[in-house]
Amino acid sequence: MPSIAERLAVVTSRIHNAALACGREPNSIRLIAVSKFMPAEAIRAAYAEGQRDFGENYVQELAKKAELLRDLPELRLHLIGHLQTNKVKTVAHRVSMIQSVDSERLVEELGKRVVLPAVEAGKRFALGQGGAQTSALEDARLPLLIEVNVAGEAQKSGCAPDAVPSVLEAIDRYPQLNACGLMTVPPFSSEPGTTRPYFEDLRRLRDSLGGPSRLPELSMGMTADLEEAITAGATLVRVGTAIFGERPPHEDK
Ligand SMILES: *Cc1c(COP(=O)(O)O)cnc(C)c1O
Repeated sequence: MPSIAERLAVVTSRIHNAALACGREPNSIRLIAVSKFMPAEAIRAAYAEGQRDFGENYVQELAKKAELLRDLPELRLHLIGHLQTNKVKTVAHRVSMIQSVDSERLVEELGKRVVLPAVEAGKRFALGQGGAQTSALEDARLPLLIEVNVAGEAQKSGCAPDAVPSVLEAIDRYPQLNACGLMTVPPFSSEPGTTRPYFEDLRRLRDSLGGPSRLPELSMGMTADLEEAITAGATLVRVGTAIFGERPPHEDK
């Protein structure tokens, strides 16, 4: 099996080529390496290659890895899985970004638990090119993405598209929280080419809410469809399998 270094190089060139193919600057797309169910050593191997942003789905697993990897000064952990309000205090000061904000209630809980500076200086996440200039204090806010269930699937986390404005307004009430974009996980499909309309829906939604200057980040695209997501405007792609290989079998957490 190829090494993590070799796999990362392949993913990086996929991102590069997809960006050039649609006339985008490759540096405007950031790779989030999704490390769920992978050991901390796999994160170390990717970090040694220069990878800094990692996505975790589960609060306990994220907290454990944050502890094991405390010695990596620039490690940025992103929560990309559903967050229950009673787990907010466990993650609030361990993450560089929460990509899965999906209710006003969750925002209110974050507002109670998160204090400035919300993100350590070395772990701050610089916003994408569309983002407004921010002061040092604003940069210390916790960056949040609103997760949108674009296809309205039952059983799926993420809020309905028409609930996004009220979640945004809730975030804006807290000076320590920063709404910086939208995230989606489209319906699963094994057919290539079928997820792009959902990615375009997410971008249109963002454009209707003020465009890239208001919400610079669009987190969409995974191993199977990162090219389609980039064509549709992704600034963050979340890739697991193509970097770390197939995930080991796991118990439900
Ligand atoms: C697991 C996961 C990914 C990565 O999926 P791959 O197909 O392994 O690249 C991305 N986003 C979310 C929300 C995930 O749960």
